[in-house]
Amino acid sequence: MFVLSQQRLKIVPNVVAIVILALIYYGTAEISRHLATTPQSVTPVWPPDGFAVAAVFIFGSRISPGVLIGSFLANIWAFFDGNSWYSAITSILMVLGIAIGTSFGSGIGNYLLRRSIKEKNPFRRLNDVYKFFLFNCVFTPMINATIGVVCLVLDRKVFWASFGTNWLTWMISNVAGICIFTPVILSFYDIYFRTIKGIKVNKNLTDNFQKEVISINLARIIELSSLIIIVIAISFLSFYQEHEYQLEYILIPCLVWAVIRFGQIVSTSLIVVVSILAVLGTVNGLGVFASKGSYSLLLLQSFIVVIVVTTLSLVAILAEKQQAIANLQKSKLKLLNKSSQLEESKLNLNDTALILEKQNIALTEAKQIAENANRTKTEFLSNMSHELRTPLNAILGFAQLLQESKNIDYQEKLDIQTIYKSGKHLLNLIDDILDISKIEAGKMELHFQDVSLSVFLKDLVDIIQVQDNQNSIDFICDFSPDLPQIIYTDAKRLRQVLLNLLSNAIKFTNKGHVIFKVKLLEPTKFDTTLSNYFSLIQFEIEDSGIGINQNKLESIFLPFEQVGDKKINSQGTGLGLAISQKIAEMMSGKITVSSQKDVGSVFRFTVSIQVSELDIFSRQCVCIVGEKSVFDLNLANNLPLKILIAEDNIVNQKVAIKILNKLGYKADIAINGVEVLELLQKQKYDVILMDVQMPEIDGIEATKQIIQSTDLYPRPYIIAMTANAMDSDRKICLDAGMDDYISKPVSVNLLVEALLGSQSGLKMER
Ligand code: ADP
Repeated sequence: MFVLSQQRLKIVPNVVAIVILALIYYGTAEISRHLATTPQSVTPVWPPDGFAVAAVFIFGSRISPGVLIGSFLANIWAFFDGNSWYSAITSILMVLGIAIGTSFGSGIGNYLLRRSIKEKNPFRRLNDVYKFFLFNCVFTPMINATIGVVCLVLDRKVFWASFGTNWLTWMISNVAGICIFTPVILSFYDIYFRTIKGIKVNKNLTDNFQKEVISINLARIIELSSLIIIVIAISFLSFYQEHEYQLEYILIPCLVWAVIRFGQIVSTSLIVVVSILAVLGTVNGLGVFASKGSYSLLLLQSFIVVIVVTTLSLVAILAEKQQAIANLQKSKLKLLNKSSQLEESKLNLNDTALILEKQNIALTEAKQIAENANRTKTEFLSNMSHELRTPLNAILGFAQLLQESKNIDYQEKLDIQTIYKSGKHLLNLIDDILDISKIEAGKMELHFQDVSLSVFLKDLVDIIQVQDNQNSIDFICDFSPDLPQIIYTDAKRLRQVLLNLLSNAIKFTNKGHVIFKVKLLEPTKFDTTLSNYFSLIQFEIEDSGIGINQNKLESIFLPFEQVGDKKINSQGTGLGLAISQKIAEMMSGKITVSSQKDVGSVFRFTVSIQVSELDIFSRQCVCIVGEKSVFDLNLANNLPLKILIAEDNIVNQKVAIKILNKLGYKADIAINGVEVLELLQKQKYDVILMDVQMPEIDGIEATKQIIQSTDLYPRPYIIAMTANAMDSDRKICLDAGMDDYISKPVSVNLLVEALLGSQSGLKMER
């Protein structure tokens, strides 16, 4: 508010504003003294204070000197006493006191009003209207009257005895002056402020105002003219006639009409018109109030206050209503906006949902296609493995048999050895390709079990020593004594990794040594999240072999990546390290290598392995032996068995029969499951070597029927002998109730072990 007042002062320079206010104050004082003073020299309405209060409200207290000067000028002519120097000075001081009281009163009243209201127009809210009356129509006149009459008394212009009467007269004339003129001036200022200045304090109010006041059409002009004529006519009849027409009450509905139809400015202006006619009539002894004798002025002033209070209250109520409607409209608009935004969002959401649904369908279809492709790939691999293994079975089987033949010369023996080695290489290749495909398809699974680490390592060393026999290198083992006894791991896969690393070390080392170290990197710890003990174990394979170029150290872990000597490489597939690294990762471990060309290499496989607290290991769980061909010609004597071969493929039948014959066994043949069951009815067999894929009743179904049939008890020991070499195939066989499993091509040693197993009743892990 204060800031706004300063802005006004920038437009009308201070001094000019002060001078203009002083002149207005003085001028209106003179006019009222001449026109509106009773024969007893009483001025019932004192308009200058109405102007002063309005000016201070608009411009702030900086305009107060204008009030001071105006009041001084207005009173000095009336009270100056030039009889003596003393009286002249005291009268000047007295008038100055009155002027100070007037400017102080208007200043204090406005200061309080401006602090307590928020809007520039005090007639926009009912509460503000009451504050206006309290501060400007009660406080201000009280201060003016009190200081003014005290000054009069001090200068002996009035006696103390008549202080009260004078105070009341002064006070009420001030109240009337402020009530009539301040609202109308503030109303005109409001127009200036909101339209001409274009400062839109509140856009809605300005718009309403423009609708009501500015956009005046012909009908409204006629209505307004009629209203003015009616108000003037009634006022004239009521207040300006010798005859008493008591029509003044009709003015109230007229003012209500003015407020409702034309707003603040017209209604406050009409108040001025009515009041001027009433005052002029009453002071001249005319109209309804003059007839009431000594109460006439009081009645007049009360009437003025009543119409002003009523009108301004109504103005404020209407403004509040307009504000409320505007706010409602605003809220409604906002709501509409929001609801259209919501509608838009809903549409967008629907679109997104549709797109998502389509994407979902596409994804499901893609998933289905991928799953189908994966299934087809797995089936293809499984079939291919089966188809390749069947001829390989014949090649390797007969090669093994021929090697033992006494009717071939040395060169032929070497040729057969080459056939066997090539077949074996092909078999390794098939196994490796199967493994890598399984890993890439995410199909490889680890099967954890409790394993005795010491036994596991001993068997591993046995296998390596057989390979090492062909070389002239030292194979040294160094196992830490603090290694855990029973570990929980997938023995088959752990063996596969270590065998690959050890075999490579031996393969790529011509002289010197291969050292196999196993040690604990950290003491065994209890993992609270997994609720188990874990050991960080490092398997280290060091050799003094050909070494690897530094720039190849990473690429040797890629599939089919072989470096170095072509001749040695031809023995391998280039898949071993790739598979080993993947298996290591599946076990949450890692294989690292450091190597120096022509000095040697060190491969390290570090892995955290769960340690079993239960010592359930009770027998050798690993029984792989070396590939040295050993035909135990006395096996049948030491272990007599009645054997049935269930096999539909003639070549495979021949291989099996020949191998068994070499071991000293005779065997019967059944070409499908039906024949197996028939033969079992006729005689007892100790062992059945059961192919899985057979016509009519396959090996799985036949096994199930044998197990279910009570009259076949004690049933024969069933060894699956199949070219279905996937892990899942082995599981299917064992789940169906078979006792052991060997895959084709048949290794003589594995077959011997399986036969031995039939005696001990133990299932061997291969
Ligand atoms: P491969 O079947 O050929 O041995 P690997 O994946 O096991 O396949 O090994 C990849 C290549 O890494 C080998 O061909 C060889 O060049 C190199 N390599 C692996 N181990 C050694 C080693 N101990 N010493 C020297 N070279 C090695």
